[in-house]
Amino acid sequence: MPIATVNPANGETLRTFDALEDDEIEKRIAAADAAFRDHRTTTFAERARLLDRAAGLLDEDREDIARTMTLEMGKPITAARAEAAKCAKAMRWYAAHAEELLADEHPAAADVEDSGAVRAYVRYRPLGPVLAVMPWNFPLWQVVRFAAPALMAGNTCLLKHASNVPQTALYLGDLFHRAGFPAGCFQTLLVGSKAVEGILRDRRVAAATLTGSEPAGRSVAAIAGDEVKHTVLELGGSDPYLVLPSADVAKAARTAVTARVQNNGQSCIAAKRFIVHTEVYEEFAERFTVGMRELTVGDPLEETTDVGPIAMEQGRADLEELVDDAVNRGAEALCGGKRPEGLGGGLENGWFYAPTVLAGVTPGMRVHREETFGPVATLYRVDSLDEAVDVANDTSFGLSSNVWTRDAGEAERCVRDLQAGGVFFNGMTASHPALPFGGVKRSGYGRELAGHGIREFCNATTVWYGSEPR
Ligand code: NAP
Repeated sequence: MPIATVNPANGETLRTFDALEDDEIEKRIAAADAAFRDHRTTTFAERARLLDRAAGLLDEDREDIARTMTLEMGKPITAARAEAAKCAKAMRWYAAHAEELLADEHPAAADVEDSGAVRAYVRYRPLGPVLAVMPWNFPLWQVVRFAAPALMAGNTCLLKHASNVPQTALYLGDLFHRAGFPAGCFQTLLVGSKAVEGILRDRRVAAATLTGSEPAGRSVAAIAGDEVKHTVLELGGSDPYLVLPSADVAKAARTAVTARVQNNGQSCIAAKRFIVHTEVYEEFAERFTVGMRELTVGDPLEETTDVGPIAMEQGRADLEELVDDAVNRGAEALCGGKRPEGLGGGLENGWFYAPTVLAGVTPGMRVHREETFGPVATLYRVDSLDEAVDVANDTSFGLSSNVWTRDAGEAERCVRDLQAGGVFFNGMTASHPALPFGGVKRSGYGRELAGHGIREFCNATTVWYGSEPR
Protein backbone atom coordinates (compact mmCIF):
# COMPACT_ATOMS: atom_id res chain seq x y z
CA MET A 1 0.00 0.00 0.00
CA PRO A 2 1.49 3.41 -0.94
CA ILE A 3 2.13 5.81 1.91
CA ALA A 4 -0.13 8.66 0.86
CA THR A 5 -2.92 11.00 1.80
CA VAL A 6 -5.83 10.31 -0.54
CA ASN A 7 -8.99 12.25 0.25
CA PRO A 8 -11.75 9.62 0.46
CA ALA A 9 -14.42 12.26 -0.15
CA ASN A 10 -13.29 12.74 -3.77
CA GLY A 11 -10.50 10.23 -4.46
CA GLU A 12 -7.88 12.96 -4.93
CA THR A 13 -4.27 12.17 -3.97
CA LEU A 14 -3.07 15.07 -1.83
CA ARG A 15 0.43 13.97 -0.78
CA THR A 16 2.69 10.96 -1.19
CA PHE A 17 5.65 9.91 0.94
CA ASP A 18 8.63 7.60 0.49
CA ALA A 19 8.98 4.76 2.97
CA LEU A 20 12.02 4.91 5.24
CA GLU A 21 15.10 3.06 4.02
CA ASP A 22 16.53 0.25 6.18
CA ASP A 23 19.46 2.34 7.42
CA GLU A 24 17.08 5.06 8.62
CA ILE A 25 14.93 2.47 10.43
CA GLU A 26 18.10 1.19 12.10
CA LYS A 27 19.00 4.71 13.26
CA ARG A 28 15.58 5.22 14.78
CA ILE A 29 15.58 1.92 16.64
CA ALA A 30 19.02 2.84 18.01
CA ALA A 31 17.64 6.23 19.05
CA ALA A 32 14.66 4.62 20.81
CA ASP A 33 17.02 2.30 22.65
CA ALA A 34 19.37 5.11 23.65
CA ALA A 35 16.49 7.34 24.76
CA PHE A 36 15.08 4.54 26.90
CA ARG A 37 18.23 4.44 29.03
CA ASP A 38 17.61 8.01 30.19
CA HIS A 39 13.83 8.19 30.01
CA ARG A 40 13.40 5.20 32.31
CA THR A 41 15.27 7.04 35.06
CA THR A 42 13.22 10.25 34.93
CA THR A 43 10.61 10.94 37.59
CA PHE A 44 6.87 10.72 37.09
CA ALA A 45 6.71 14.47 37.69
CA GLU A 46 9.15 15.16 34.84
CA ARG A 47 7.25 12.90 32.43
CA ALA A 48 3.93 14.41 33.51
CA ARG A 49 5.18 17.93 32.83
CA LEU A 50 6.05 16.95 29.23
CA LEU A 51 2.80 15.07 28.66
CA ASP A 52 0.75 17.98 30.01
CA ARG A 53 2.63 20.23 27.63
CA ALA A 54 1.78 17.90 24.73
CA ALA A 55 -1.88 18.09 25.76
CA GLY A 56 -1.76 21.89 25.71
CA LEU A 57 -0.15 21.94 22.27
CA LEU A 58 -2.74 19.50 20.97
CA ASP A 59 -5.51 21.78 22.23
CA GLU A 60 -3.91 24.68 20.36
CA ASP A 61 -3.57 22.59 17.19
CA ARG A 62 -7.07 21.13 17.37
CA GLU A 63 -8.54 22.81 14.30
CA ASP A 64 -5.57 22.02 12.04
CA ILE A 65 -5.10 18.39 13.07
CA ALA A 66 -8.86 17.78 12.89
CA ARG A 67 -8.83 19.00 9.29
CA THR A 68 -5.84 16.78 8.49
CA MET A 69 -7.60 13.71 9.90
CA THR A 70 -10.76 14.48 7.96
CA LEU A 71 -8.81 14.89 4.72
CA GLU A 72 -6.87 11.68 5.31
CA MET A 73 -9.65 9.31 6.34
CA GLY A 74 -12.98 11.10 5.95
CA LYS A 75 -14.39 11.36 9.47
CA PRO A 76 -16.79 14.28 9.96
CA ILE A 77 -14.89 17.37 11.09
CA THR A 78 -16.98 17.62 14.28
CA ALA A 79 -15.90 14.09 15.24
CA ALA A 80 -12.28 14.89 14.37
CA ARG A 81 -12.27 17.87 16.75
CA ALA A 82 -13.83 15.72 19.48
CA GLU A 83 -11.14 13.08 18.94
CA ALA A 84 -8.36 15.64 19.37
CA ALA A 85 -9.98 16.94 22.57
CA LYS A 86 -10.33 13.41 23.91
CA CYS A 87 -6.63 12.75 23.29
CA ALA A 88 -5.62 15.83 25.26
CA LYS A 89 -7.88 14.68 28.09
CA ALA A 90 -6.31 11.21 28.13
CA MET A 91 -2.80 12.71 28.19
CA ARG A 92 -3.73 14.83 31.19
CA TRP A 93 -5.35 11.86 32.88
CA TYR A 94 -2.23 9.72 32.60
CA ALA A 95 -0.01 12.65 33.56
CA ALA A 96 -2.07 12.99 36.75
CA HIS A 97 -2.54 9.30 37.59
CA ALA A 98 0.45 7.29 36.30
CA GLU A 99 2.41 7.53 39.54
CA GLU A 100 -0.42 6.14 41.66
CA LEU A 101 -1.25 3.47 39.03
CA LEU A 102 2.34 2.25 39.07
CA ALA A 103 2.96 2.64 42.79
CA ASP A 104 4.75 -0.25 44.48
CA GLU A 105 2.37 -3.01 45.56
CA HIS A 106 2.75 -4.38 49.07
CA PRO A 107 1.39 -7.83 49.89
CA ALA A 108 -0.14 -8.42 53.33
CA ALA A 109 2.48 -8.44 56.12
CA ALA A 110 1.62 -12.04 57.05
CA ASP A 111 2.26 -13.18 53.47
CA VAL A 112 5.57 -11.32 53.33
CA GLU A 113 6.63 -13.05 56.50
CA ASP A 114 5.37 -16.39 55.20
CA SER A 115 7.60 -15.97 52.11
CA GLY A 116 10.60 -15.70 54.43
CA ALA A 117 11.20 -12.03 53.70
CA VAL A 118 11.69 -9.13 56.04
CA ARG A 119 10.28 -6.97 53.25
CA ALA A 120 8.80 -7.72 49.81
CA TYR A 121 6.92 -5.69 47.24
CA VAL A 122 6.18 -5.41 43.50
CA ARG A 123 7.77 -2.58 41.48
CA TYR A 124 6.48 -1.73 37.97
CA ARG A 125 9.42 -1.01 35.71
CA PRO A 126 9.30 -0.07 32.00
CA LEU A 127 10.18 -2.64 29.32
CA GLY A 128 11.98 -0.60 26.66
CA PRO A 129 11.15 0.55 23.12
CA VAL A 130 7.62 -0.59 22.21
CA LEU A 131 6.45 -0.88 18.60
CA ALA A 132 2.89 0.34 17.95
CA VAL A 133 1.20 -0.79 14.73
CA MET A 134 -1.87 1.39 14.42
CA PRO A 135 -4.98 1.77 12.24
CA TRP A 136 -6.38 4.79 10.44
CA ASN A 137 -9.89 4.90 11.88
CA PHE A 138 -9.08 6.96 15.00
CA PRO A 139 -5.69 8.12 13.79
CA LEU A 140 -4.90 10.26 16.83
CA TRP A 141 -6.76 8.42 19.58
CA GLN A 142 -5.45 4.94 18.85
CA VAL A 143 -1.89 6.21 19.12
CA VAL A 144 -2.38 8.47 22.14
CA ARG A 145 -4.14 5.83 24.19
CA PHE A 146 -1.05 3.67 23.78
CA ALA A 147 1.63 6.37 23.88
CA ALA A 148 0.44 8.39 26.89
CA PRO A 149 0.65 5.48 29.36
CA ALA A 150 3.74 4.00 27.66
CA LEU A 151 5.68 7.26 27.96
CA MET A 152 4.49 7.82 31.54
CA ALA A 153 5.69 4.31 32.46
CA GLY A 154 9.15 5.18 31.11
CA ASN A 155 9.02 3.27 27.82
CA THR A 156 9.91 4.73 24.43
CA CYS A 157 7.63 4.42 21.39
CA LEU A 158 8.09 3.52 17.74
CA LEU A 159 4.95 4.24 15.71
CA LYS A 160 4.15 2.38 12.48
CA HIS A 161 0.88 4.04 11.53
CA ALA A 162 -1.51 2.99 8.78
CA SER A 163 -0.20 3.96 5.35
CA ASN A 164 -3.21 6.18 4.55
CA VAL A 165 -2.71 8.58 7.49
CA PRO A 166 0.94 9.67 7.09
CA GLN A 167 0.36 13.33 7.91
CA THR A 168 -1.36 12.51 11.19
CA ALA A 169 1.47 10.09 11.92
CA LEU A 170 4.10 12.77 11.32
CA TYR A 171 2.10 15.26 13.36
CA LEU A 172 2.26 12.93 16.38
CA GLY A 173 6.05 12.67 16.20
CA ASP A 174 6.30 16.42 15.95
CA LEU A 175 3.86 16.96 18.85
CA PHE A 176 5.85 14.90 21.35
CA HIS A 177 9.08 16.51 20.15
CA ARG A 178 7.68 20.06 20.62
CA ALA A 179 6.40 19.09 24.05
CA GLY A 180 10.01 18.49 25.04
CA PHE A 181 10.30 14.69 25.08
CA PRO A 182 13.96 13.95 24.32
CA ALA A 183 14.81 12.70 20.81
CA GLY A 184 14.05 9.00 20.50
CA CYS A 185 11.26 8.90 23.09
CA PHE A 186 8.53 8.91 20.43
CA GLN A 187 9.27 8.40 16.76
CA THR A 188 7.09 7.96 13.72
CA LEU A 189 8.39 5.44 11.19
CA LEU A 190 6.83 5.91 7.77
CA VAL A 191 7.04 2.29 6.64
CA GLY A 192 4.77 -0.26 5.01
CA SER A 193 3.52 -3.34 6.81
CA LYS A 194 6.32 -5.51 5.34
CA ALA A 195 8.85 -3.62 7.46
CA VAL A 196 7.10 -4.62 10.70
CA GLU A 197 8.70 -8.05 10.95
CA GLY A 198 12.28 -6.75 10.88
CA ILE A 199 11.53 -4.08 13.47
CA LEU A 200 9.75 -6.50 15.77
CA ARG A 201 12.56 -9.06 15.53
CA ASP A 202 15.17 -6.45 16.45
CA ARG A 203 16.51 -7.40 19.89
CA ARG A 204 16.23 -3.78 21.09
CA VAL A 205 12.46 -3.70 20.55
CA ALA A 206 10.90 -5.03 23.72
CA ALA A 207 7.23 -5.51 22.87
CA ALA A 208 4.47 -4.56 20.45
CA THR A 209 0.89 -3.40 20.41
CA LEU A 210 -1.32 -3.70 17.34
CA THR A 211 -4.75 -2.28 16.72
CA GLY A 212 -6.23 -3.41 13.46
CA SER A 213 -7.60 -6.37 11.58
CA GLU A 214 -7.42 -10.01 12.58
CA PRO A 215 -4.93 -11.00 9.83
CA ALA A 216 -2.56 -8.21 10.85
CA GLY A 217 -2.90 -9.18 14.51
CA ARG A 218 -2.27 -12.82 13.78
CA SER A 219 0.86 -12.01 11.80
CA VAL A 220 2.36 -9.69 14.43
CA ALA A 221 1.48 -12.06 17.27
CA ALA A 222 3.13 -14.96 15.44
CA ILE A 223 6.37 -13.04 14.97
CA ALA A 224 6.29 -11.77 18.55
CA GLY A 225 5.58 -15.31 19.76
CA ASP A 226 8.58 -16.56 17.83
CA GLU A 227 10.69 -13.87 19.51
CA VAL A 228 8.96 -14.41 22.90
CA LYS A 229 7.92 -10.76 23.12
CA HIS A 230 4.83 -9.43 24.84
CA THR A 231 1.98 -8.14 22.67
CA VAL A 232 -1.38 -6.45 23.09
CA LEU A 233 -3.89 -6.98 20.28
CA GLU A 234 -6.97 -4.83 19.75
CA LEU A 235 -8.69 -6.34 16.74
CA GLY A 236 -12.09 -6.23 15.14
CA GLY A 237 -15.52 -6.25 16.69
CA SER A 238 -19.13 -6.98 15.80
CA ASP A 239 -20.72 -5.67 18.95
CA PRO A 240 -24.27 -6.71 19.84
CA TYR A 241 -26.88 -4.15 20.90
CA LEU A 242 -29.69 -5.83 22.82
CA VAL A 243 -33.06 -4.12 23.21
CA LEU A 244 -35.26 -5.86 25.79
CA PRO A 245 -38.97 -5.30 26.51
CA SER A 246 -38.48 -2.93 29.47
CA ALA A 247 -36.19 -0.61 27.46
CA ASP A 248 -36.85 3.04 26.68
CA VAL A 249 -37.28 2.14 23.02
CA ALA A 250 -37.27 5.69 21.64
CA LYS A 251 -34.00 6.47 23.37
CA ALA A 252 -32.54 3.08 22.47
CA ALA A 253 -33.34 3.71 18.78
CA ARG A 254 -31.89 7.23 18.79
CA THR A 255 -28.70 6.04 20.48
CA ALA A 256 -28.52 3.05 18.12
CA VAL A 257 -28.15 5.39 15.15
CA THR A 258 -25.13 7.13 16.72
CA ALA A 259 -23.72 3.83 17.97
CA ARG A 260 -23.80 2.42 14.45
CA VAL A 261 -22.67 5.36 12.31
CA GLN A 262 -20.08 6.99 14.58
CA ASN A 263 -16.89 7.52 12.60
CA ASN A 264 -18.79 6.72 9.38
CA GLY A 265 -19.51 3.28 10.82
CA GLN A 266 -15.81 2.42 10.96
CA SER A 267 -15.29 1.87 14.63
CA CYS A 268 -14.31 -1.42 16.22
CA ILE A 269 -16.72 -0.69 19.09
CA ALA A 270 -19.59 0.52 16.94
CA ALA A 271 -22.74 -1.50 17.65
CA LYS A 272 -23.20 -3.65 14.57
CA ARG A 273 -25.80 -6.31 15.37
CA PHE A 274 -29.12 -5.07 16.77
CA ILE A 275 -30.85 -7.88 18.63
CA VAL A 276 -34.38 -6.85 19.55
CA HIS A 277 -37.04 -8.60 21.62
CA THR A 278 -40.15 -9.33 19.59
CA GLU A 279 -42.33 -7.26 21.98
CA VAL A 280 -40.53 -4.07 20.98
CA TYR A 281 -39.14 -5.10 17.59
CA GLU A 282 -41.61 -3.25 15.35
CA GLU A 283 -41.30 0.02 17.22
CA PHE A 284 -37.50 -0.18 17.40
CA ALA A 285 -37.10 -1.17 13.73
CA GLU A 286 -39.33 1.69 12.60
CA ARG A 287 -37.64 4.37 14.74
CA PHE A 288 -34.11 3.10 13.98
CA THR A 289 -34.72 2.95 10.23
CA VAL A 290 -36.17 6.47 10.17
CA GLY A 291 -33.15 7.72 12.13
CA MET A 292 -30.69 6.04 9.76
CA ARG A 293 -32.54 7.32 6.67
CA GLU A 294 -32.54 10.91 7.93
CA LEU A 295 -28.78 11.14 8.41
CA THR A 296 -26.93 13.71 6.32
CA VAL A 297 -24.36 11.99 4.12
CA GLY A 298 -21.84 14.28 2.48
CA ASP A 299 -18.67 16.31 2.63
CA PRO A 300 -17.01 15.48 5.96
CA LEU A 301 -15.56 19.02 6.14
CA GLU A 302 -19.12 20.41 6.41
CA GLU A 303 -20.29 21.05 9.98
CA THR A 304 -23.70 19.50 9.30
CA THR A 305 -22.47 16.18 7.91
CA ASP A 306 -23.33 13.08 9.95
CA VAL A 307 -21.76 10.46 7.72
CA GLY A 308 -18.73 10.94 5.46
CA PRO A 309 -17.10 8.48 3.05
CA ILE A 310 -15.59 5.07 3.73
CA ALA A 311 -11.84 5.63 4.22
CA MET A 312 -10.68 3.44 1.35
CA GLU A 313 -12.13 2.34 -1.96
CA GLN A 314 -11.49 -1.32 -1.09
CA GLY A 315 -13.33 -0.82 2.19
CA ARG A 316 -16.45 0.27 0.37
CA ALA A 317 -16.15 -2.64 -2.08
CA ASP A 318 -15.91 -5.06 0.88
CA LEU A 319 -18.98 -3.52 2.47
CA GLU A 320 -20.95 -3.70 -0.78
CA GLU A 321 -20.08 -7.39 -1.11
CA LEU A 322 -21.37 -8.11 2.39
CA VAL A 323 -24.66 -6.29 1.83
CA ASP A 324 -25.19 -7.83 -1.62
CA ASP A 325 -24.55 -11.30 -0.21
CA ALA A 326 -27.16 -10.73 2.52
CA VAL A 327 -29.77 -9.34 0.13
CA ASN A 328 -29.16 -12.18 -2.36
CA ARG A 329 -29.76 -14.65 0.47
CA GLY A 330 -33.05 -13.05 1.48
CA ALA A 331 -32.27 -10.14 3.81
CA GLU A 332 -34.34 -6.99 3.36
CA ALA A 333 -32.72 -3.54 3.18
CA LEU A 334 -35.12 -1.37 5.21
CA CYS A 335 -33.07 1.62 4.05
CA GLY A 336 -29.88 2.13 2.03
CA GLY A 337 -28.28 -0.98 0.57
CA LYS A 338 -26.54 1.09 -2.10
CA ARG A 339 -24.36 4.12 -2.76
CA PRO A 340 -26.05 7.44 -2.01
CA GLU A 341 -27.37 9.34 -5.01
CA GLY A 342 -27.18 13.01 -5.88
CA LEU A 343 -23.83 13.86 -4.29
CA GLY A 344 -22.23 16.58 -6.44
CA GLY A 345 -19.16 18.80 -6.34
CA GLY A 346 -16.68 15.97 -6.86
CA LEU A 347 -18.16 13.87 -4.05
CA GLU A 348 -19.53 11.49 -6.68
CA ASN A 349 -15.91 10.28 -6.97
CA GLY A 350 -15.71 9.65 -3.22
CA TRP A 351 -16.25 6.33 -1.47
CA PHE A 352 -19.64 6.96 0.12
CA TYR A 353 -22.16 4.34 1.18
CA ALA A 354 -25.72 5.01 2.32
CA PRO A 355 -26.69 4.21 5.93
CA THR A 356 -28.26 0.78 5.69
CA VAL A 357 -30.48 -1.37 7.90
CA LEU A 358 -30.72 -5.06 7.01
CA ALA A 359 -33.61 -7.09 8.46
CA GLY A 360 -34.13 -10.84 8.27
CA VAL A 361 -30.45 -11.66 8.71
CA THR A 362 -29.74 -15.37 9.13
CA PRO A 363 -26.60 -17.32 10.16
CA GLY A 364 -25.89 -18.33 6.54
CA MET A 365 -25.18 -14.74 5.53
CA ARG A 366 -21.68 -13.29 5.66
CA VAL A 367 -22.90 -10.22 7.59
CA HIS A 368 -23.82 -12.57 10.43
CA ARG A 369 -20.20 -13.61 10.89
CA GLU A 370 -18.08 -10.80 9.52
CA GLU A 371 -17.48 -7.27 10.69
CA THR A 372 -19.32 -4.58 8.72
CA PHE A 373 -16.87 -1.66 8.66
CA GLY A 374 -19.23 1.07 7.48
CA PRO A 375 -22.75 2.40 8.20
CA VAL A 376 -24.53 -0.96 7.88
CA ALA A 377 -26.67 -2.41 10.68
CA THR A 378 -28.12 -5.90 10.96
CA LEU A 379 -31.42 -6.47 12.77
CA TYR A 380 -32.44 -9.66 14.57
CA ARG A 381 -35.80 -10.48 16.16
CA VAL A 382 -35.63 -12.69 19.27
CA ASP A 383 -38.27 -14.15 21.61
CA SER A 384 -36.39 -14.16 24.92
CA LEU A 385 -33.35 -12.97 26.81
CA ASP A 386 -31.84 -16.45 26.44
CA GLU A 387 -32.13 -16.24 22.68
CA ALA A 388 -30.77 -12.67 22.68
CA VAL A 389 -27.67 -13.77 24.58
CA ASP A 390 -27.20 -16.76 22.26
CA VAL A 391 -27.36 -14.56 19.15
CA ALA A 392 -25.07 -11.99 20.79
CA ASN A 393 -22.46 -14.65 21.54
CA ASP A 394 -22.76 -16.35 18.13
CA THR A 395 -19.72 -14.55 16.78
CA SER A 396 -15.97 -14.97 16.79
CA PHE A 397 -15.62 -11.42 18.12
CA GLY A 398 -15.90 -10.27 21.72
CA LEU A 399 -14.99 -6.61 21.98
CA SER A 400 -17.90 -4.85 23.70
CA SER A 401 -21.69 -5.15 24.03
CA ASN A 402 -24.67 -2.89 24.69
CA VAL A 403 -27.91 -3.73 26.49
CA TRP A 404 -31.09 -1.71 26.95
CA THR A 405 -33.18 -2.84 29.92
CA ARG A 406 -34.69 -1.46 33.11
CA ASP A 407 -34.62 -4.88 34.76
CA ALA A 408 -31.74 -5.36 37.22
CA GLY A 409 -32.01 -9.16 37.03
CA GLU A 410 -31.66 -9.09 33.25
CA ALA A 411 -28.71 -6.73 33.55
CA GLU A 412 -26.89 -9.03 35.98
CA ARG A 413 -27.56 -11.98 33.69
CA CYS A 414 -25.97 -10.06 30.78
CA VAL A 415 -22.90 -9.15 32.86
CA ARG A 416 -22.52 -12.84 33.63
CA ASP A 417 -23.13 -14.25 30.16
CA LEU A 418 -22.16 -11.86 27.37
CA GLN A 419 -18.77 -12.83 25.92
CA ALA A 420 -17.20 -9.41 25.52
CA GLY A 421 -14.63 -7.08 27.06
CA GLY A 422 -17.37 -4.64 28.09
CA VAL A 423 -21.11 -4.48 28.79
CA PHE A 424 -22.68 -1.02 28.48
CA PHE A 425 -26.26 -0.59 29.74
CA ASN A 426 -28.76 1.99 28.51
CA GLY A 427 -26.17 3.83 26.48
CA MET A 428 -23.50 3.07 23.90
CA THR A 429 -19.97 1.74 24.23
CA ALA A 430 -17.34 4.44 24.49
CA SER A 431 -13.79 4.42 25.76
CA HIS A 432 -12.63 6.52 28.71
CA PRO A 433 -9.10 6.85 30.13
CA ALA A 434 -10.21 5.49 33.52
CA LEU A 435 -11.92 2.35 32.16
CA PRO A 436 -10.03 -0.61 30.71
CA PHE A 437 -10.61 -1.31 27.03
CA GLY A 438 -10.08 -4.54 25.10
CA GLY A 439 -11.65 -7.75 23.96
CA VAL A 440 -11.89 -11.51 24.23
CA LYS A 441 -12.14 -14.20 21.55
CA ARG A 442 -10.84 -12.98 18.19
CA SER A 443 -11.16 -9.35 19.21
CA GLY A 444 -7.74 -9.72 20.78
CA TYR A 445 -6.13 -9.80 24.19
CA GLY A 446 -4.62 -7.47 26.72
CA ARG A 447 -6.11 -4.16 27.78
CA GLU A 448 -5.55 -0.52 27.04
CA LEU A 449 -6.39 2.48 29.22
CA ALA A 450 -6.78 2.69 33.01
CA GLY A 451 -4.28 0.91 35.27
CA HIS A 452 -4.54 -2.24 33.16
CA GLY A 453 -3.27 -0.39 30.08
CA ILE A 454 -0.25 1.24 31.69
CA ARG A 455 0.80 -2.02 33.34
CA GLU A 456 0.73 -3.98 30.02
CA PHE A 457 4.14 -2.63 29.06
CA CYS A 458 5.73 -2.90 32.48
CA ASN A 459 7.86 -5.53 34.11
CA ALA A 460 6.06 -6.40 37.37
CA THR A 461 9.24 -6.98 39.36
CA THR A 462 9.19 -8.92 42.62
CA VAL A 463 11.56 -7.33 45.15
CA TRP A 464 12.34 -9.61 48.13
CA TYR A 465 14.70 -9.02 51.04
CA GLY A 466 15.86 -11.87 53.31
CA SER A 467 17.45 -9.20 55.46
CA GLU A 468 17.59 -5.44 55.13
CA PRO A 469 20.63 -4.06 53.28
CA ARG A 470 22.56 -1.34 55.06
P1 NAP B 1 -5.26 -3.36 9.15
O1 NAP B 1 -5.26 -3.54 7.70
O2 NAP B 1 -4.99 -4.51 10.00
O3 NAP B 1 -4.18 -2.18 9.45
C1 NAP B 1 -3.86 -1.81 10.75
C2 NAP B 1 -2.36 -1.59 10.83
O4 NAP B 1 -1.69 -2.83 10.65
C3 NAP B 1 -1.81 -0.68 9.75
O5 NAP B 1 -0.76 0.07 10.29
C4 NAP B 1 -1.31 -1.66 8.71
O6 NAP B 1 -0.32 -1.12 7.88
C5 NAP B 1 -0.78 -2.75 9.58
N1 NAP B 1 -0.74 -4.06 8.97
C6 NAP B 1 -1.60 -4.60 8.08
N2 NAP B 1 -1.24 -5.87 7.79
C7 NAP B 1 -0.13 -6.13 8.50
C8 NAP B 1 0.71 -7.27 8.62
N3 NAP B 1 0.47 -8.40 7.96
N4 NAP B 1 1.78 -7.19 9.44
C9 NAP B 1 2.03 -6.07 10.13
N5 NAP B 1 1.27 -4.96 10.05
C10 NAP B 1 0.20 -4.99 9.26
O7 NAP B 1 -6.60 -2.77 9.69
P2 NAP B 1 -7.53 -1.70 9.02
O8 NAP B 1 -8.39 -2.38 8.04
O9 NAP B 1 -6.74 -0.54 8.57
O10 NAP B 1 -8.36 -1.24 10.31
C11 NAP B 1 -9.60 -1.68 10.57
C12 NAP B 1 -9.61 -2.83 11.54
O11 NAP B 1 -9.06 -2.43 12.78
C13 NAP B 1 -11.01 -3.29 11.85
O12 NAP B 1 -11.07 -4.69 11.92
C14 NAP B 1 -11.29 -2.68 13.20
O13 NAP B 1 -12.30 -3.30 13.92
C15 NAP B 1 -9.96 -2.79 13.83
N6 NAP B 1 -9.86 -1.84 14.94
C16 NAP B 1 -9.84 -2.33 16.20
C17 NAP B 1 -9.80 -1.48 17.28
C18 NAP B 1 -9.77 -1.99 18.68
O14 NAP B 1 -9.44 -1.24 19.59
N7 NAP B 1 -10.09 -3.24 18.93
C19 NAP B 1 -9.77 -0.11 17.07
C20 NAP B 1 -9.81 0.35 15.77
C21 NAP B 1 -9.83 -0.53 14.71
P3 NAP B 1 -0.67 -0.59 6.39
O15 NAP B 1 -1.65 0.52 6.54
O16 NAP B 1 0.65 -0.13 5.89
O17 NAP B 1 -1.23 -1.76 5.64
